[in-house]
Amino acid sequence: MSEDKDSTMDAQARINAGPVVAAGQPLAAPEALAEHYRAILAGLGENPQREGLLDTPMRAAKAMQYLTRGYHQDLDTIVNGALFSSDNDEMVLLRDIELYSMCEHHLLPIIGKVHVAYLPDGKVIGLSKIARIVDMFAARLQIQESLTREIAEALMQVTGAKGVGVVVDAKHMCMTMRGVEKQHSSMATSVMLGAFREDGRTRREFLNLIGRTAG
Ligand SMILES: [Zn+2]
Repeated sequence: MSEDKDSTMDAQARINAGPVVAAGQPLAAPEALAEHYRAILAGLGENPQREGLLDTPMRAAKAMQYLTRGYHQDLDTIVNGALFSSDNDEMVLLRDIELYSMCEHHLLPIIGKVHVAYLPDGKVIGLSKIARIVDMFAARLQIQESLTREIAEALMQVTGAKGVGVVVDAKHMCMTMRGVEKQHSSMATSVMLGAFREDGRTRREFLNLIGRTAG
């Protein structure tokens, strides 16, 4: 896997490499992870035995397992057959889906919004399932480019849509908290598939609906 600093290269390398953990594998007991957190505390110069930190390694281990629960989920289980026949051929849009993820470079939060749209081709998916697909990929270590693409390709695969558009707008704590002096910057990524890529009108309609002007 590439260590290239260019994140677009990273995104492609990741997709080529495939998932790191087989989806659906059971969660390991948190004790081993807690042991590592104890070492991290000591490595930071803290005393892991002081009262306020005694339960921290186990809490941190469980929190991290929760934040990466997406490794143990898979698309079929999440969608669970919630696909319905429909002759609707108008765009379906879910706007402002809350995003909480973590960057794979610093293990720090990525916080933002996701906008997802698709053009049905005989099948529609329950709206809550779109949010759950976003959550599954967000709950893995990510770079924003890969997250955006994974959401788009999963929705395309599940619905067989004529096209899918995904826009992610997010702040990266590795930028804002590390004194990079970009406290107010946010990053926007988009992936357009099928009709959203080929048909400028469809793409513009989507971008207008989420309050963006098509560049
Ligand atoms: Zn980062």
